[in-house]
Amino acid sequence: MAALDLTGKRAIVTGASSGIGRATAAALAAAGVRVVGGARRVERLETEVALELDVSDAASCERFVAEALERLGGLDILVNNAGLALGRAPFDESTEEDEAPVLAVNVAGLIRMTRLCLPHFGDWGHIVNMGSVAGRQAYENGALYVTSKFAERGFTYALREDLLGRPVRITTIDPGLVETDFSLVRFKGDEEKAAAVYRGVDAMQPDDIAECILFALTRPWHVNVDEIVVKARNQSSGGRILRDE
Ligand code: NAP
Repeated sequence: MAALDLTGKRAIVTGASSGIGRATAAALAAAGVRVVGGARRVERLETEVALELDVSDAASCERFVAEALERLGGLDILVNNAGLALGRAPFDESTEEDEAPVLAVNVAGLIRMTRLCLPHFGDWGHIVNMGSVAGRQAYENGALYVTSKFAERGFTYALREDLLGRPVRITTIDPGLVETDFSLVRFKGDEEKAAAVYRGVDAMQPDDIAECILFALTRPWHVNVDEIVVKARNQSSGGRILRDE
């Protein structure tokens, strides 16, 4: 099967200021795609067009999509990557302050960006949603993040049904452990706790996930890659990771 040529396609990547989003934006650009990157830390964006975006804020999303559409002149690819976890404790210790942003970004933000972008796809569209192994099998002490990623997968499945017959493909990418700033955010800046997550395990890198996304995007037009589940070799599930002593 010949890989589909993405040259000249136009993409939005949310959360392109770090980790998987940054690697995906770079891989798309290398494949000839024109990329608008969005994030709150706009100064960290290295995309052709860099725009401030807070996916948890409806007005910010509306401004972002309008400006991105104007700059690109249309839209072919949406990568809904922005996301986070906050805290790693039994649910009894969960707080309103930790729960609200996770649901607002990972669930409401992803849904909002999809709703705003959907009308702008022409006769070739592809939505890539960032899921997680946490959205397929629960692990302990991560209830809100697990909830948000199960919701992401439910939304992706539902949209697959609603998009049937339209020229828009949809894929969920569900990675295990990837070495990014994700844990630094989850542990609220505690570098030691964050580093421990990746210690002794040959974790995946952001480029590994970008390659999965490019694989889905470059399949021949008649193929829809519904889901890609990808983990480090030393990880069999969200909660089971083999570490070197
Ligand atoms: P990361 O390095 O912390 O990157 C997270 C990105 O999300 C940043 O660019 C951040 O940008 C953006 N973001 C967060 N809140 C946002 C908001 N309100 N509006 C716009 N952008 C926002 O972590 P990562 O690992 O690359 O995470 C990317 C995605 O992969 C997430 O959906 C995460 O759940 C998923 N994932 C990660 C792993 C992993 O092990 N790392 C595994 C499975 C899935 P700003 O802070 O600049 O706004």
